[in-house]
Amino acid sequence: MTAAPAPWVGVAAIAFFAFIAMPALSQSVANPLYLHTGLHAQPLAPYMDLLEDRSGQLTFAQVREQSAPSGAFRPFGPRALNAGFSDSVWWVRFSLVNTGNTAATYLLRQDYPLIDYIELWQQDETGRWRQRRSGDRLPFRQRDIEHRDFLFILDVPAKTSATYYLSFRSAGPINIGLQLFTPENLLQALSAEQLLHGLAYGAYLVLIAYNLFIFFIVRDKVFLYYLAYLSFTVVNIAIHSGFAFQFLWPDSPDWANRSVSVFAILAIVAVLQFSRGILELRDYAPRLDSLLRIAMVSFACALPVIFWLPYATQVVSVSLLALATALLVLWIVVVRVLSGYAAAFYFLAAWLALLIGIGVYLLKSFGFLPHNVFTQHSSQIGSLVEMLILSLALGSRFRVFRIESRTDALTRLFNRRQFDEMLLHEFKRARRLSQPLTLLLLDVDHFKRLNDRFGHAEGDKILKVIGNILSGSIRKPALPFRFGGEEFAVLLPRTNHSDAAALGERLRKKVAGEFDRYEGITISGGLATLDHAGVDTMESLLHAADSALYQAKAMGRNCVVRFDRTLAPAASP
Ligand code: GH3
Ligand code: MG
Ligand code: MG
Repeated sequence: MTAAPAPWVGVAAIAFFAFIAMPALSQSVANPLYLHTGLHAQPLAPYMDLLEDRSGQLTFAQVREQSAPSGAFRPFGPRALNAGFSDSVWWVRFSLVNTGNTAATYLLRQDYPLIDYIELWQQDETGRWRQRRSGDRLPFRQRDIEHRDFLFILDVPAKTSATYYLSFRSAGPINIGLQLFTPENLLQALSAEQLLHGLAYGAYLVLIAYNLFIFFIVRDKVFLYYLAYLSFTVVNIAIHSGFAFQFLWPDSPDWANRSVSVFAILAIVAVLQFSRGILELRDYAPRLDSLLRIAMVSFACALPVIFWLPYATQVVSVSLLALATALLVLWIVVVRVLSGYAAAFYFLAAWLALLIGIGVYLLKSFGFLPHNVFTQHSSQIGSLVEMLILSLALGSRFRVFRIESRTDALTRLFNRRQFDEMLLHEFKRARRLSQPLTLLLLDVDHFKRLNDRFGHAEGDKILKVIGNILSGSIRKPALPFRFGGEEFAVLLPRTNHSDAAALGERLRKKVAGEFDRYEGITISGGLATLDHAGVDTMESLLHAADSALYQAKAMGRNCVVRFDRTLAPAASP
């Protein structure tokens, strides 16, 4: 089935850890497989012999007769084979025995789709050996069955034993995982698999759309880097599971092969840039940031060079880059976690999910874990989990943005924008439910003078202290805002005129008490209530509170004035 969906890191690891899985040498010959209808995704490894032709020159006749000095078959071994990068041609041989009275049709599936050349040899009715060719160096449409993995139809006549030979040759890693299916159980297996793949790609598309949407709202570049990384990863997964060749560029085998390196490098560059952004390296770890920037720029520059290298060199260099990147990112994330940076925890969890997925996939590829729907797709699952966790991490970043956009940076109170929204909201609600709504505007007295005397920075500190007094003294449903400059607003839903006046008086006293030891800093307040003294619209509520505030200033400051009809609108500033 899908082999190295393990995006790029997978290919690298397959190549470098291949030696683990080399089967032991011995001369005995594997048993034939007796066909019966109960076979389901039957691994052929225990029934196969293997021959490595290091010269790459043996003819089929030499292989069949084992006439070359180096050309002897040995048992394949119990597990799937990962031979890593190899110039050899790898031959396997197995026999199927049909004891029934009718011919039997089976399907042979090779579960790693990135093999350059695969040839199958079988005898026809007259006993002549016939060759069938496949591999990802041929246009996709030339396959026996147009499927992302290699599928061969095997017809075994009644009461016979048939022997098959397959050869594998590839500039990339050699990964031999052959399974036998009846047509019915292949159909069943594929229908379940296709659904899972569809779900995974669907999830990726949703993630892309969701993050694109958020990017357009917050315009935070980190979302863009994440989107790039996500998109390149999806293409990588499609390449490694064979879908890209099947659906995106079926007529371009050369590009299909080169695309492995191109999209791997694009994903690597994107993940480096994303790491720099999400871990805020530029601000908090400038040396790591430079390191990543150098890595990124040199990898990006290597892209055109690598593109023109011979394919084998290309895949090896990209694998090395991928491995280096995986370790580099892991190291930097751990450094950021240890320095206590919260977002790094998410990133670490996400990165580990990816690495675990790839690890499980590799253990399966080397036969240490069973071949099932989870192990087969573990690197895609790991990658999907990675992307989900990163999306959540970015979602919390989005929440921070939203809060920031409604908060005043100096006092941490809600800002004017939030005030306008809340006023409208509370006004509608008060009207709907016939409840009172009061607005209190507060303004620092002679603040200009304070600024002139103590300096702007000291002025800021005073505003901060007043902000703290407001947020510390006001309980829900009332809400304090920084209205602008040295003006504050308190929105008091479900609060009548006299209760609000009492609160205003309390706030005024608190501020005066806070500062009277040093500078005698005071505030003035203006108060207006809906359906009180002729105030009946949102605009008139604002206007009335402002007039009352103006009156308070006129009355000598450090007092709270309630709006009433005697305060002519013309008196307001
Ligand atoms: P009044 O008692 O009539 O309100 O006099 P005032 O000086 O407080 O009023 P005015 O509106 O003339 O001046 C407000 C000053 O507040 C002017 C401006 O420089 C200052 N100011 C506005 N926003 C900030 C701020 O964020 N920090 C500081 N330090 N000063 C600010
Ligand atoms: Mg003032
Ligand atoms: Mg003012």
